[in-house]
Amino acid sequence: MRMRVEQKARIIALAVFVPAIGVHSAAATANPRDGAPKRQAPNEPKPERLPPTTAPLRASVPSPRRCVAAGRLITSALAPLAFFGLLGCCRMSRKEKWYVAGLAFECTQCGNCCSGAPGYVWVTREEIRRISLRLGRTDGTLSKEHLRRVGLNKYSLTERPGGDCIFLTRADGKSGCSIYDVRPLQCRTWPFWSGNVKSPDSWNSVAGGCPGANRGKHHDFVAIEDLRLKKSW
Ligand code: SF4
Repeated sequence: MRMRVEQKARIIALAVFVPAIGVHSAAATANPRDGAPKRQAPNEPKPERLPPTTAPLRASVPSPRRCVAAGRLITSALAPLAFFGLLGCCRMSRKEKWYVAGLAFECTQCGNCCSGAPGYVWVTREEIRRISLRLGRTDGTLSKEHLRRVGLNKYSLTERPGGDCIFLTRADGKSGCSIYDVRPLQCRTWPFWSGNVKSPDSWNSVAGGCPGANRGKHHDFVAIEDLRLKKSW
């Protein structure tokens, strides 16, 4: 009797727990986010397939990363060539310059370069501001007495009647510059302008009007080039 009761209890337990295990395993395999079946319904349209040529075509388009890599490769390969080419050019230009040994020049304060035939002493806005300050002005400009506009946006210092620069001074047979410490670049680099040192002839032509050329202090090639190529001061 006791055995029968135990057997009945086992049968009941099996009857209750086995279906429960089946429900649990089914819930574990189902997608928790959708209750729809995974299998495709027979009447549902199949997704369109891409033509097989799509992948190769896309692969043949160069990617930006690939272009950058190629650019770097070319740059690194050409860098030594560019370097030696530039070095060669520098050497050649130095070799080609007829004044590689330097030139002699020392100002005698004759004033010829600041007078004579009408010309231009070009000044930048920054140079105008410095000269203005030197003259005690606070507005950074110059009056028409000292400055004239040439064309749309170029400025030159003015001249007195007879051709003297407006800032040229003369005393005891010597000339000077009343704004010497803030004189424009054009005056600072005289006589080593590109046109003046273009050839021995052009330099000798300068020496014809400037008694300071070909005498006195020796200026080496580097110093001459530094002045000739100067863009500002
Ligand atoms: S012409 Fe020559 S020597 Fe005479 S003031 Fe000018 S730079 Fe000096």
